[in-house]
Amino acid sequence: MNNFQKPRGTIDYFGQELTNLKFLEDTIKYIAHLYGYTEIRTPIFEHTEVFIRSVGQTSDIVTKEIYNFLDKGGRNIALRPEGTAGVIRAVNENKLLQKQNYPLRIYYYGPVFRYERPQSGRARQFHQFGFEILNTKEMMDDLDVILLSQTVLNILKLKKYHLEINCIGSIESRNKWIEALKIYFSDYKDQLSNDSLNRLNTNPLRILDDKIDGAKDFVKNAPKIKTFLSKKELQDFEILQQSLKSLKIDFKVNESLVRGLDYYTDTVFEFISELDELKGQSTICAGGRYNNLIHELGGIEAQGVGFAFGLERLLIQYQTETSNNIIYDNNSEVCIINLIEDTFVAESIAYMLRGFNFSVYYEPSIKKITQGFKLAEKRQAKVILIIAQNEINNNEVILKNQITMEQTKVNINNLYKTLEKTLKNND
Ligand code: ATP
Ligand code: MG
Repeated sequence: MNNFQKPRGTIDYFGQELTNLKFLEDTIKYIAHLYGYTEIRTPIFEHTEVFIRSVGQTSDIVTKEIYNFLDKGGRNIALRPEGTAGVIRAVNENKLLQKQNYPLRIYYYGPVFRYERPQSGRARQFHQFGFEILNTKEMMDDLDVILLSQTVLNILKLKKYHLEINCIGSIESRNKWIEALKIYFSDYKDQLSNDSLNRLNTNPLRILDDKIDGAKDFVKNAPKIKTFLSKKELQDFEILQQSLKSLKIDFKVNESLVRGLDYYTDTVFEFISELDELKGQSTICAGGRYNNLIHELGGIEAQGVGFAFGLERLLIQYQTETSNNIIYDNNSEVCIINLIEDTFVAESIAYMLRGFNFSVYYEPSIKKITQGFKLAEKRQAKVILIIAQNEINNNEVILKNQITMEQTKVNINNLYKTLEKTLKNND
């Protein structure tokens, strides 16, 4: 291979797109702070078992999408396909839930990996920004995480999306539903795709949200979870809907929304894009409650609720809906233009000034004053230092104040103090 290319389904970020991505990261981090969450960072790889136990043996992620391998010690390791499992493993291992008797609100951000067919909004390495409330005691926390997602979308001024919610019940209610679905779908075997036929015995819920079969009438008419929910589950789901209504948050109940991860119980939700650019990969943010996962991964008996944004999809949504070009202030206070042969002088002055906390732009290959002025303007420098032979012979440099346009000579020994004063006066 002469021309190296990135692996299929990966993305190189740079320039304006990276600036926009960083803006989204910073915005969500800021909102995490508004909602009182603290960060957790866990490895990007875990023992594969962590994901099999959490996401589920029969899930698409584990059966088809996981990047796993044996390491040199023969351990079965997987690159994380999602964030929640690793976070809960870490919380359990470090006994974080035992350290306080109220819920833990944490967020994570980083790359996740899935072996999928790449397309716009679907990559093999992508980023998730996720939130978890662990050891939650209140069903209102379901509302809280939905509101958090809504706040992110509001602050980003996005509009072309909608919210779907569902209640998939406890394991007990759901098992009854699964049995009913198995019986129901076995009458339609000849109309199910091969994928769905495989799921019939392992995970019939996924037939409901299958992209093709899900649209067929007999699938739409399949038994609904609500017939199997307990009174308490129905009541909580009703309260969630009433709360959203009174906050004037639009939503649809989608009875086929089951989510692809096996650990969810009760509330699940998705914010779905309405942009053509994300057709087929339209879920920008998704999550729900998990009442057994913490214990399943070796922790205490406690419930959790959480969700994650897919940053790549949020980025497409953001860039399509807004024409803002985010500009991060990456200017320099001081620009050095060197006109003498020996570039070491400028290099050492730059080193000295940076040590005093000035942002200094110095490009040794630029040797012409006009070119230097242009660059200084582009970087919006407040001060230009010109190093010229006559002045250097007297241990001086020329200081040009870009605000007042005054030019003075300054002894190098006084340089940082003079700069400090000049920049202060310019403010
Ligand atoms: P989909 O149905 O689109 O495959 P999913 O159910 O697999 O989504 P989750 O596991 O809930 O998605 O992941 C949370 C979020 O991560 C998604 O809502 C989406 O925004 C994003 N996401 C999932 N898979 C990818 C991917 N391959 N590339 C980019 N973003 C992704
Ligand atoms: Mg998926």
